[in-house]
Amino acid sequence: MSHPPHLSDPQAPHNHDHCVSHALQAAEQVCTREGVRFTALRKRVLELVWQSHKPLGAYDILDTLSRDDGRRAAPPTVYRALDFLQEQGLVHRIASLNAFIGCPSPEHRHQGHFLICLGCHVAIELEESGISEAIASAAAAHDFVASSETVEVSGLCARCRAAA
Ligand SMILES: [Zn+2]
Ligand SMILES: [Zn+2]
Ligand SMILES: [Zn+2]
Repeated sequence: MSHPPHLSDPQAPHNHDHCVSHALQAAEQVCTREGVRFTALRKRVLELVWQSHKPLGAYDILDTLSRDDGRRAAPPTVYRALDFLQEQGLVHRIASLNAFIGCPSPEHRHQGHFLICLGCHVAIELEESGISEAIASAAAAHDFVASSETVEVSGLCARCRAAA
């Protein structure tokens, strides 16, 4: 399969179709490996989450689905699809925004750590950051077993600083 496009600046012009097709291909593989069904709705919701590199709220997804289908999508079905995508590591939930972002490398399990721009609202997932290792060793020093990590760093990206 193709390598995930790693973008240090997702706001820079790039072929976003490549991001989306990679994400869908990776999702198919993860679902096959896990023996779970990648239903049309789950795929559709994942595509909507991937419409940009900005986190999207469940209500935004519901609105788009309702608009496209010409009738109100049922919130529980969308929430269930998002739960599924999150369980499979295909999307990450950004707690501080109560929103979802597609994961560019769902093949291996990880906690997402993010830089979130307050100007353009783009969220950049950090790769190989060493943050999980630092948290694990800090927790171990307290004989503490971590079950989740939330690392969301807000600030301004280079593009927004240049525009200010
Ligand atoms: Zn993209
Ligand atoms: Zn991820
Ligand atoms: Zn920005």
